[in-house]
Amino acid sequence: MQSETPRPKAEIDWLTGFLIRHRWLLVVPVLLPLSFVFELLMSVRDFYVRTLRHAPKKHDARVRDIQEQIRRWQENGSKGRLCTARPPWMSISTRMVKYKRPENSIHIPLYDILSLDIERRVVRVEPRVTVGQLTAYLVPRGWTLPVVPELNDLTVGGLYVGYGIEVSAHKYGLFSESVQSCDVVLGDGRLVHASPYEDAGLFNALPWSQGSLGFVVAMEIAIIPAARFVHLTYHPTHSIKEACELMQREACRDNPAEFVEGMLFSPREGVVTTGVFADTAVPGKIHHANRWYAPWFASRSRRFIAAGGGDEFIPLTHYYQRHVRGMYWESELIVPFGNRPWFRYLLGWMMPPKISFLRLTQGERIRRYYDEKHVVQDALVPVEHMEKTVCYFDRIFEAYPVWLCPMRVNRKSPRGFVNPDGRAWGDRPKKPSKRPRSGVPTMAWPVGPTLNENKHEMYVDVAVVAVPGPIFRGEDYNAMDGVRGMEQFLLEHRGYQALYSVTQMSADEFRRMFDCTLYDQVRHRYGLDNVFMDVYEKVRLT
Ligand SMILES: Cc1cc2nc3c(=O)[nH]c(=O)nc-3n(C[C@H](O)[C@H](O)[C@H](O)COP(=O)(O)OP(=O)(O)OC[C@H]3O[C@@H](n4cnc5c(N)ncnc54)[C@H](O)[C@@H]3O)c2cc1C
Repeated sequence: MQSETPRPKAEIDWLTGFLIRHRWLLVVPVLLPLSFVFELLMSVRDFYVRTLRHAPKKHDARVRDIQEQIRRWQENGSKGRLCTARPPWMSISTRMVKYKRPENSIHIPLYDILSLDIERRVVRVEPRVTVGQLTAYLVPRGWTLPVVPELNDLTVGGLYVGYGIEVSAHKYGLFSESVQSCDVVLGDGRLVHASPYEDAGLFNALPWSQGSLGFVVAMEIAIIPAARFVHLTYHPTHSIKEACELMQREACRDNPAEFVEGMLFSPREGVVTTGVFADTAVPGKIHHANRWYAPWFASRSRRFIAAGGGDEFIPLTHYYQRHVRGMYWESELIVPFGNRPWFRYLLGWMMPPKISFLRLTQGERIRRYYDEKHVVQDALVPVEHMEKTVCYFDRIFEAYPVWLCPMRVNRKSPRGFVNPDGRAWGDRPKKPSKRPRSGVPTMAWPVGPTLNENKHEMYVDVAVVAVPGPIFRGEDYNAMDGVRGMEQFLLEHRGYQALYSVTQMSADEFRRMFDCTLYDQVRHRYGLDNVFMDVYEKVRLT
C-alpha cells in the first residue's frame, strides 16, 4: 500500500545527521534555560492576572477587540482568509503553516480562567488557557477535567477544535466531548453562544474543524471530583496479541478503571497500566512521577515487565504530568543522555525544552528530517482492529514505543468528523436536548458507566511517535511512505487520522474518512467559504 508515484528516497547528508545527533548542543545550554525562564515569567503573569486583574471584565473588552479586527479586515477588502495570529512555531503540531499573513491574522489574546461553577460542574475558560495552567488551578480545589491531555503547553482551544485525547477517553470520549458550551466569533464578527441547546449545529461541528468555522473565545468545560492519588497497576505483556486483548478487556469492562494506557516497547514487550482514583496511599508505595530527578515515566514503566508487574500510588498532578519531562519518549531523541541519573539530578529540573522553542530553532534541515525520517501520528481505529493495526504499523514503521489509548466514540450524537456508523448528521440532535434546570450538572455523558454499545463504540488511538527502525539500521527509508500506507489502512478499517499532523490523503479520500456533512452545512449556513480556509486545505500536504 504505497503512494502511486514513488517518492524519492530520503537520504540524510552528513550535516543533517550531525545536527540531529548533536541537537543537544543547542538545547541543553540555550533552549533549556530559555524554556525555564519563559515558564517562570508565565507563572508570574498568571499569578498577576488571577489575583490583581478582574479577568471577566477584560474578557468582554478583548472579545470586542477581536470583533473589531474582523470588521477592519472586511473594510480593508477581506484580503486572504481569516486565521489566528498564533505563530506556527508555538503550536504543538507537525504541520507547516504557510497561510498566516498580517492582513488575515486575528490576534486572540485570551489566556485566562474566567470562573468556576461548582454547582453546574463547569469551568469557564478562554481558549489559550493551557492544560498545565488549568490543572494547577483545579486540582488544589478538588476538581479536575475528565480528559487531561498530558503536555502542559497544549491549549484548551487547540484541543477542542483540533485533537485532544487522554487515557480516560474510554470513559469520556475525546477532549471535545467535555466541552459543554462555547462562545464563538463568526466570520462576520457576530458573537454567538453554542451548546447542545443553542446553535447545536455549530456546536457539534466545531470539534476537528481546526479553526475553520469561527474563533472560539470562551468555553465551558465539565469538571469531575479529583482525588489525591492515582493507584496505578502495571500489567506486563509479552506479545502484541496479549497487549491488545488486555487493553480491550480493561477499556470495555463494566465500571472500567479511570485510566487505561498501553505502551509497547517492542512486539514482545509491553505494559498496560490501569489507574483508579484513591484518596489515601500505602506508605512506601508513593511515586512522584514528575519530580525532576525521577526517571522518565515510559522507560521506568518498562522495568515492570522484568519485575512481573506491580502497583504504586502517584499523586494526581504527577500522574497527569508523567510524560512531560520525557515528552513520552521524544526527549531521548533530543537529549540522548537526558534520562541518565547524573543529568536528571543536575539539570532535570529544566526539562523539557519547550516544543515551541524547538520548532522555532529547528531550521530547514531538521524540519525536513522530521518530515521524512520521523513519524508523529495518531491513528484511531475500532477496538476490534487494534491488533491488526499494531501488527500493520510494525510492518510499515517498525517504530517503538507505540502508545495505546482507548477512546469511546459517541454513536448517537457524534461531534466533529467522527461518525462511525456513517449516518448523516442531523443539524440538531434527533430528540432536541432539553435544557437542564439551573443547578443540574450539564455533563453530556454519565460518569463511570458500563459501555453501552447502542450509544458508543470503543475505538483506540494507536500513536507512533518515533524514528522508524529501518532508519536506525541505516536503510534508505522515507517515513512519508509509511504514513501514506497508514492512511490507506485507516480508510479500509473505519479509522481516522488525527489532524494535528499533515495528511497525504486526496480530497476525496479525506471525505471518505471524515463525515463532513454537518461541517459543510454549517459553513454554508454562515457563508464561511470566503472567510475561513476549508479544513482540508489547512491539513493537506502541500
Ligand atoms: C509532539 C506532539 C505531542 C502531542 N501530545 C498530545 C497529547 O499528549 N495529548 C493530546 O491530546 N494531543 C497531543 N498532541 C496533539 C495536539 O493535541 C493537537 O495538535 C492540538 O490540536 C494542538 O493544540 P495546540 O494547543 O498546540 O493548538 P494549535 O495547534 O494552536 O491549534 C490547533 C488548531 O485549532 C485552531 N484553533 C486554536 N485556537 C482556536 C480558537 N480559539 N478558535 C478557533 N480555532 C482555534 C488552530 O487554528 C489550529 O488549526 C500532540 C502533538 C504533537 C505534535
